[in-house]
Amino acid sequence: MVDVVIIGCGVVGAAAAMELSRYKLDVVIVERENDVAVGTTKANSAILHAGYDPKPGTLMARLNVRGSELCREYCAALDVPYRRCGSMVLAFSEKETETLRELLDRGVKNGVPGLKIISGDEARAREPELADTVLEALWAPSAAIVSPWEMCLAFAETAVKNGVELRLNTAVTGIDRRGDGYTVRTDRGDIETKYVVNAAGVDSGTIHDMAAPHSFDIKPSRGEYYLLDKAEGTRVNTVVFQCPTERGKGVLVSPTVHGNLIVGPNAEPSMPHDAATTAAGLAFVKETACLSVPKINYSKSIRNFAGIRANTGRDDFIIGVSAPRFVDLAGICSPGLTSAPAIGEYAAELLAREGLALEKKENFDFSRRRIRFKELSPEAREELVRRDPAYGRVICRCETVTEGEILACLHTPIPPVSVDGVKRRVNAGMGRCQGGFCAPRVVEILSRELGLSPGEIVKDRTGMNILVRETKGGEG
Ligand SMILES: Cc1cc2nc3c(=O)[nH]c(=O)nc-3n(C[C@H](O)[C@H](O)[C@H](O)COP(=O)(O)OP(=O)(O)OC[C@H]3O[C@@H](n4cnc5c(N)ncnc54)[C@H](O)[C@@H]3O)c2cc1C
Repeated sequence: MVDVVIIGCGVVGAAAAMELSRYKLDVVIVERENDVAVGTTKANSAILHAGYDPKPGTLMARLNVRGSELCREYCAALDVPYRRCGSMVLAFSEKETETLRELLDRGVKNGVPGLKIISGDEARAREPELADTVLEALWAPSAAIVSPWEMCLAFAETAVKNGVELRLNTAVTGIDRRGDGYTVRTDRGDIETKYVVNAAGVDSGTIHDMAAPHSFDIKPSRGEYYLLDKAEGTRVNTVVFQCPTERGKGVLVSPTVHGNLIVGPNAEPSMPHDAATTAAGLAFVKETACLSVPKINYSKSIRNFAGIRANTGRDDFIIGVSAPRFVDLAGICSPGLTSAPAIGEYAAELLAREGLALEKKENFDFSRRRIRFKELSPEAREELVRRDPAYGRVICRCETVTEGEILACLHTPIPPVSVDGVKRRVNAGMGRCQGGFCAPRVVEILSRELGLSPGEIVKDRTGMNILVRETKGGEG
């Protein structure tokens, strides 16, 4: 029998696993997909929110502000791309200037540092591309941008390095109460455990209902985006929001840590896993963003994508003990990415209150480094190539990613098994051509290194094979 089973390895499950890996415990994290960070964690705005939006007194407010500080600390320790660039909420009308004051008041109550209201001219002095119609803005210096999937990966890798067992391609199908613990049923066998943590994202309602009386519904809401080429990446240098509405934080324009520009999202009711983009949704995003930053050049768009919010209609996350030794980390909508490390801490606290003994390990390893060839000095590159010629072979031209980096990621605690898995780890395929050039070469490397035929290599999820028929030399 293990101590804890965590269901779901998005950023929330990964953060909980990392937190529990500080202690002398047997922890298993179960993920349905073939990789971590493949649910909502890979498709969002990538903002670490300052924390003025949640209602004071809610768990969301507390975990957002604490999470924002922890993300800064953890990203530095675990080598995750992070930039504290600050954010602005824009007001275009007298009514919206009142909203800014409400947000300022909430932020002060929530303990957000450095908030202030600035005039439209001050806002334009910071961001010259803002519209002339901006009357005022709420400036939040502690807002940041991050690589969401790399943050999740870093948490999950740290957990695995410190003894957590990650079971991929394993879907939880049922949960039975057994004496002092649970039998977690999966499509790959049962797991006996003393405690269960539900971190199943948009499926957290389904998992909750397996162990506790029905008490909430997940109302999935889709948000669609434009991702623009680096040529547009400096259109703004801070995160530019509009005033939030009851439907969400509104359409934003933001730089990304990878040097692109992200624009979106809208908010439309959807099915739990329907992350398709729509012409109407994208048209809305474009039109709305234009009010903030009129000159964005959408001909530089390199990708559209959508993410699904695990909304519940409540103004808070659903976090708590829902059955004996069963902890829900459910309904983790935005700002769930920002709050994740604080949610992880809180999950450990709730488990301890339920009787789990938390005895610290002496040898907890909280370090992670990866080589980013393109960020090295010419001298360091030369030295690296001399030591390992694989670093001299550029596989992704747009992002200057070398074969050496791809081979190195195949030897990390959670090696990728798909082309997109490689992309999430080393950025190959993230650039202007979106993998048009490097994808076949990544397939070749994966096939060689994993001992699989090219036809068995998937783009992302299991079943997404890229090659449908292999040809022999000369065959068309
Ligand atoms: C459009 C949009 C924009 C957002 N922007 C931001 C932002 O800028 N800043 C911010 O802080 N937050 C943002 N968020 C919220 C943030 O992305 C989420 O709160 C966070 O990613 C949720 O992580 P998670 O681990 O709970 O869920 P997920 O990442 O979805 O992970 C859940 C995992 O559980 C697995 N799973 C489900 N069922 C089972 C099962 N039966 N068995 C095994 N595994 C299972 C899934 O496969 C999945 O991998 C945004 C969300 C959206 C949709």
